Amino acid sequence: MITAHPGLPEFDYIKPTTLEEASTFLAQHIGEARPFIGGTDTFVRMRDGAWKDKYLVDVKGLPGMQDLTFDLAKGLMVGAAVNMNRLIASPEVNEHYPVLAEAAHTVASYQLRTRATIAGNICNASPAGDTVGACLVLDAKVHVHGVDGDRVEPLPLRAFFKGPGKSVLKPGDIVTAVEFPIPPKGSQGKYLKLGRNAIGDLAIVGVTAFGYPDGAAASGYRFFVALASVAPTPFMPDMGLLSEKAITPELIDEAANAAMNAVAPIDDVRGSARYRKLMVRNLTRKALSDVWERLTK
Ligand SMILES: Cc1cc2nc3c(=O)[nH]c(=O)nc-3n(C[C@H](O)[C@H](O)[C@H](O)COP(=O)(O)OP(=O)(O)OC[C@H]3O[C@@H](n4cnc5c(N)ncnc54)[C@H](O)[C@@H]3O)c2cc1C
Repeated sequence: MITAHPGLPEFDYIKPTTLEEASTFLAQHIGEARPFIGGTDTFVRMRDGAWKDKYLVDVKGLPGMQDLTFDLAKGLMVGAAVNMNRLIASPEVNEHYPVLAEAAHTVASYQLRTRATIAGNICNASPAGDTVGACLVLDAKVHVHGVDGDRVEPLPLRAFFKGPGKSVLKPGDIVTAVEFPIPPKGSQGKYLKLGRNAIGDLAIVGVTAFGYPDGAAASGYRFFVALASVAPTPFMPDMGLLSEKAITPELIDEAANAAMNAVAPIDDVRGSARYRKLMVRNLTRKALSDVWERLTK
């Protein structure tokens, strides 16, 4: 008999009171301990038998993890344990980082979003993470506490992912916050997610587009695109051509084709590689056109 969901195995629940204690415990139990916040990835993988950790280390109550702060000079700081519903409800996030709220809104259901976090979405390092694209185009940085204390410099998210489920984090590393700089003046963003149903499914393809006026670019604008579910890691195709000459619908088509040609997705239960490639082109064109329209309104 095949048991699709064997059930949650026994594990020890560890609730450290300091970051030092948490990092030390994790570093002393490499391969058998894992930090968690919302647990929405962790408990599913444990239940399915994919992860077999002996210890789950609850880091969501540690100092600073629940803080959500905004400063017009420094930008946005999202504590690792700030759940997605809090993020979506934040007036500052909606005013200055609407594409982040838009992306978070596509994750699962309201109920799940009371647990799920963007830090968990990032640390899970799935190529399908819906909020990761917004974090990438907004040039987020990740604050990390390790066995040697707080990292002096936060890690740029654009250099964070190493493969499916793999990141640059080392044993004992705990993400404490995700930091976002003030977005460029006049910026616009869009997240388009294609799933098998309207809500509650992972992306077959996800496209985040972001653009802003830039006097240093020949076209007068700069664009970034981040793609979900089409490469081993979240992927940013080069959108440099949209800075090189006057932007027209044909140039946007060219950029969408370039995005399609830059990815080599796989076939899986959610979609074939060919379908994914075509959807990268179509959704990139749609997302860029939407952003361009709002930039020039
Ligand atoms: C029914 C269902 C639907 C879902 N739908 C979507 C969806 O539509 N889109 C989507 O993107 N995702 C979806 N997910 C996946 C999941 O909800 C998200 O990835 C979520 O953002 C994970 O956040 P979390 O806080 O629950 O992570 P957790 O489960 O707590 O952790 C996830 C991973 O990150 C690591 N980790 C957690 N916190 C830290 C930390 N502070 N430092 C270092 N490592 C850490 C954990 O060890 C684990 O490997 C879904 C999950 C379920 C169960």
